[in-house]
Amino acid sequence: MAEAKIPKATAKRLPIYYRYLNILFNAGKQRVSSTELSEAVQVDSATIRRDFSYFGALGKRGYGYDVESLLNFFKKTLNQYRLTNVALIGVGNLGHALLNYNFRQTNSVRISAAFDINADIANTIQSGVPVYPMAEMKEQLQLQQIDVTILTVPIDDAQKVADELVAAGVKGIMNFTPIRISVPATVRVQNVDLANELQTLIYFLDHYGSKATSD
Ligand code: ATP
Repeated sequence: MAEAKIPKATAKRLPIYYRYLNILFNAGKQRVSSTELSEAVQVDSATIRRDFSYFGALGKRGYGYDVESLLNFFKKTLNQYRLTNVALIGVGNLGHALLNYNFRQTNSVRISAAFDINADIANTIQSGVPVYPMAEMKEQLQLQQIDVTILTVPIDDAQKVADELVAAGVKGIMNFTPIRISVPATVRVQNVDLANELQTLIYFLDHYGSKATSD
């Protein structure tokens, strides 16, 4: 499938098509012509045909498009195009660096909210990201529908904050603290212990030398 090459303008129309197809599907319609779609979504039918051809969805002459299979296809594609908003908790040295980095090389992930207990930094904007006080964390995470979080608080607070994240309903925690946090099985944790990674590298170099010599 040529999804990577879908033009931005086409990608932007996806939610409109999707919404309308949902209406048709719920009304029990099995097929739709590009002319019908065109009238409903106010996009000319040549554009619709071109847009759909990027998805490999080619309508059959005299039949139109199959509503259910188009709908299923859009559901999948929309997920790929969705911008995932991520929250960061603990705007210290590492937290700042990550806010500044903000995953610029990808356009599908961005840190859109940060939280910190320190009153000096809460209610400010850091590297373009609003920092909220911890008291607002649950409300903001739910309001912004954020499921993925980055944990950069001090070790001693990691478990407590992780518990708060779980209570707020997040599904994933990227844990930059050196401790292993406990979470229910429904929450996924990815541990990134930078100090440990560096120590491991040094250990291997000390004991085995570089890869070239150890192979
Ligand atoms: P780093 O460990 O990232 O280099 P640092 O040494 O600058 O950071 P830390 O003491 O590790 O600072 O704290 C990281 C950030 O986490 C600070 O901005 C601090 O205010 C914040 N923080 C500390 N405790 C909590 C907590 N319970 N909830 C949320 N944020 C917290």
